[in-house]
Amino acid sequence: MGSVVGRFAPSPTGDLHLGNLRTALIAWLSARSQDGRFIVRMEDLDRMTSSAEHERHQLEALAAIGLNWDGDVVRQSERFDRYDAAIAELTERGSTYECFCTRREIRDAIRAPHEGHLAYPGTCRELTAAQRAAMVGEGRRPAIRLRAGGVTVEVVDELVGPVGAVVDDVVLRRNDGVPAYNLAVVVDDAAQGVTEVVRGDDLLATTPRQVLLQRLLGLPTPRYVHVPLVVGADGARLAKRHGAVTLTDVAARGIDPTAVRRLLDATLGSQQTTAPQSAHFHAENGGFDVRMVPREPWVIPLDLQRSDP
Ligand code: GLU
Repeated sequence: MGSVVGRFAPSPTGDLHLGNLRTALIAWLSARSQDGRFIVRMEDLDRMTSSAEHERHQLEALAAIGLNWDGDVVRQSERFDRYDAAIAELTERGSTYECFCTRREIRDAIRAPHEGHLAYPGTCRELTAAQRAAMVGEGRRPAIRLRAGGVTVEVVDELVGPVGAVVDDVVLRRNDGVPAYNLAVVVDDAAQGVTEVVRGDDLLATTPRQVLLQRLLGLPTPRYVHVPLVVGADGARLAKRHGAVTLTDVAARGIDPTAVRRLLDATLGSQQTTAPQSAHFHAENGGFDVRMVPREPWVIPLDLQRSDP
């Protein structure tokens, strides 16, 4: 095996839809065609919305379209000690601060921010020790934020090109002790030796934050490939209302996972060789280059969008 490690890191909060499966397929093809390892990580920090059943369905769907992975599936809910250690390291370096803003203001911090994310205005950034003690005295528990210092981080994405942003003071740990997505993903990608991150381009804006965290923690930056989303005919991100969007939905219309795989393969660029559905797919079979993936969103075929099967 080569030194490439790719990954797919879904949140087990529902069934994977064709867009998620296409992203997973691209990540897998890229890793395997470089003779690399491919791992699956369950990002189940949010215990309210994650479930073992969703996890099982997601893994079954990946296997059904011919994807395989190396080693055990890792669950973020079992790795809090690693995230706590990374936060402690950042704190020791003066790169964090306690934030006493309300739960509502920070409740979404542990989720991957697919819908965008508002920069924190810095309310708690310069609290004095006395002010912090007073808050704690009132029984308030702090969240931990990154002291980003207004730094601009530039990343070059393989498909999107250069991406630069001023990194804001993202939450690293919620005030109920749950680590945040941006922190966990950075710790895990490094701990698992991930060298390329292929994911939906709705997560592009998170990348400068994650790269800053990597730098502060002395961790390597993987190769980033943000693939366009899959959309319905209305141009909106694929959702249940678009019709048959999961393997179960399309099976009800007589389309089996092998046909789904063919459909997805056909969307990956005319130059691409489709890979066999084999656990032993290696570079010599492949010639897959992730940079050939079309840069426009894939619109799912109209026959899958009909509301009646
Ligand atoms: N867990 C995130 C999601 O469900 C993806 C995180 C990532 O790929 O970095 O969309």
